[in-house]
Amino acid sequence: MTVPLPFALDVAGFCTHPGRVTRPDASWRSLRFPALFGVIEHPRAGVVLVDTGYAPRFIAATARWPARLYRSLTPVTLPPGETAVDRLAARGIRADDVRTIVVTHFHGDHIAGLRDFPRARIVFTASAWAAVADLRGLAAVRKAYLPALLPDDFSSRADVLDDAGGLRPLPPQVAPFGRGIDVLGDGTLWGVPLPGHAAGQLGVYFHAASAGPTLIAADAAWHSHSIRAPHDLHVLARLLSPDHRAWRATLDALHELAKGDAVRVVPLHCAEVAAGVGWVARGGPHPPTPSPKSGGGGGSLAVE
Ligand SMILES: [Zn+2]
Repeated sequence: MTVPLPFALDVAGFCTHPGRVTRPDASWRSLRFPALFGVIEHPRAGVVLVDTGYAPRFIAATARWPARLYRSLTPVTLPPGETAVDRLAARGIRADDVRTIVVTHFHGDHIAGLRDFPRARIVFTASAWAAVADLRGLAAVRKAYLPALLPDDFSSRADVLDDAGGLRPLPPQVAPFGRGIDVLGDGTLWGVPLPGHAAGQLGVYFHAASAGPTLIAADAAWHSHSIRAPHDLHVLARLLSPDHRAWRATLDALHELAKGDAVRVVPLHCAEVAAGVGWVARGGPHPPTPSPKSGGGGGSLAVE
C-alpha cells in the first residue's frame, strides 16, 4: 500500500574521523559526520523516529575506559540544542508524541537518544539484538555498543522483528533488495536488511510525502558519493565490520537502486544529505525550523 508519509531529516550531533577510512578518494584529513535521524508521521502509528543520533549521555557513557576508546576513535561534538528531543521540540513535537523508534542497529550514535522518549516502543531486528545483548566492557565497545544507553524499561518496550523467518517480498520499487519486514503491518513502512556494517542492520523504505519513495540506508554507506561510486571497505574499517564482503554487496545493491533515480537513498552520516536539510558543517547553529502545523499541503514537515 502506498501512503505518502510526512517526513523530515534532522541532525543530533556529529563525530569526526579520517576521511580516507570512509572513502578511497578522500585525504586522511578529519571529516565531520553528522548523526542524522528520520522523523516520519504515520496516520495511525503517530510519530515514528528512525534512530536518535547523539545525546549528552553518550558523552557520559564514554567517559571511562574501555568505553572511552569509542569516543577516541570518533570524537563527538554535540552543540547545545542539537539532540533529537530538542530538535523535535523545535518542530512542535513532544517527546511523548514519539510512539515508535526504529533502531537501524545498536551503534551508540544511533541509540543515544532512546531514553528521551519514554512512550516509544523500540523496534529492531532479532539478529541486531542477538549480536550485542550479552556484551559488556571491551567486547561491547568493539561492537560500538554501550549498554548504558538503553532505557531501564527497554525489554518491556522492545518490539523485535524476525529478520530470519519473518521476511516477505518487498515492494518492487526496492529491487534489487528482494525481501524485508512489514514494520507496522500495513505495508507503509518496510524494513530492508542491509548486512555488512553491523549485525542485523535494517534500512527503512517508505513513500515520503514530499520526496517520494525513500530508503533510509542507515550506515550501509557513510557518503552518498559512495553509493554513486561504490568501493571496497577500507582495511581499517574492516576491523570493526562483521562482514566486509556483505558490506560491498549491500553498497552495490544501493548503487543499483539509486541509479534509477526512482528511490531516494539516504545514508545517515552523509554531510551532503545533512547540508540539504540545513545542517552547517561547523556544527550549527540550525536555521529556524518551520512549525509542522504551518506547512499546509498535507502537513508535511517539509525540510527535506
Ligand atoms: Zn553504525
